Amino acid sequence: MTAKVFLKPRKAKPLWWGAAWVYEGSIDRIRGGGRLTCGDLVEVCDHEGRRIGQGFWNPQSLIRVRMVTRGEESFDEAFLRRRMRRAFSLRRTLFPRGADTDAYRLVHAEGDGLPGLVADRVGDWIVVSFDDEGLVRWREVVLDELESVWKPRGIWRRVSRSARERGEGAELEGLLRGRAPESPVGCREEGVRFLVDPVAGQKTGFFSDQRLNRRVAESVAAGRDVLDAFSYVGGFGLRCLVRGNARQVTAVDSSAPALELAATAAAQGGVREKFIVEKANVLRYLDHAAKAQRTWGLVLLDPPKLVPRRGALRKGLKLYQEINRKGIAVVEPGGYLGTSSCSGLVDTATFKQTVQAAAFEVGRELQLLHVGGQSPDHPALAGQPESRYLDFLLYRVF
Ligand code: SAH
Repeated sequence: MTAKVFLKPRKAKPLWWGAAWVYEGSIDRIRGGGRLTCGDLVEVCDHEGRRIGQGFWNPQSLIRVRMVTRGEESFDEAFLRRRMRRAFSLRRTLFPRGADTDAYRLVHAEGDGLPGLVADRVGDWIVVSFDDEGLVRWREVVLDELESVWKPRGIWRRVSRSARERGEGAELEGLLRGRAPESPVGCREEGVRFLVDPVAGQKTGFFSDQRLNRRVAESVAAGRDVLDAFSYVGGFGLRCLVRGNARQVTAVDSSAPALELAATAAAQGGVREKFIVEKANVLRYLDHAAKAQRTWGLVLLDPPKLVPRRGALRKGLKLYQEINRKGIAVVEPGGYLGTSSCSGLVDTATFKQTVQAAAFEVGRELQLLHVGGQSPDHPALAGQPESRYLDFLLYRVF
């Protein structure tokens, strides 16, 4: 018999509305099921015992249960296969055969109703990470689905930072199916070639959530000097050069291996002479640039997640403001700023306000031209607002 998790009065509403997470503090009592272990399937009920659905139990996380089914539906192998096919059909629509993009997300965890499971296609390989013990138990089914539908040359596993914090070791990383990825792996995004390292790179190797925002950045890049700050493997910068006809791109990042991949991809794409890489701390780089009165016609800011927890909100927002203030200061008058936040806990309104405060500090005027978010292969769960985690704002700066 599966255990029943009863919620406190009034704590059920977000879940009825489609939220995916049950926090420790929302749980009233647990009945039946014997001793629960991490990854066990439980039934989630409201205070009166009405079944909301099923989820996976995790005693180590504040998110005690991650929902997987709703209502009377029950989780089993057939359900999992249907869920995976549902996720795949979205990607088949977004990227039909012959598409000029082969770097995208096949499964976006809760956004696809598959708790903690991320699967990214990177060229001919698939990189997976399991951030919840529940689906780890169903690993072979998950891999069978990925393999039979997408026919990758290999499937490689990464262990996410949150899984490491739960004590899962790096020794779990490695080859699950087929052949190990080449180092580096080549992939294409809207016709532009990139080099990524799924084995040693960040996350699963490439940030495909910015795809549509890179397209927006390209649209104002022609003839301009572009600063791609926090460039990683050059996602924004290379697209601005190759498709956007930028005059020149300066890519700044603290990661030497990422810059090396960016530079090699630029060389292979025949644009190396217009692509400058600078290994530096972006904040310090911007200070130096301001002192030297160096400006750019398009400045792109894409820092890592600065608000990972609710408790880090104030500090993170201060940092967003500082980065944006320094970024705005080096935009030439009439130039453009494309600024990103990948912190789900910072909503769009708050991020806009932070950028506006930054502009005020340096006495610049902003026109808001475009509001973007994560690309649709990273679907957000409408019932859980913070799952829309990425913001990209394009401004003109005077
Ligand atoms: N814009 C990239 C993704 C950026 S991910 C793309 O489109 O793919 C964030 C990047 O910021 C990482 O590459 C990381 O190495 C870099 N980074 C983090 N802190 C930094 C700092 N203080 N200065 C420079 N780079 C930093």
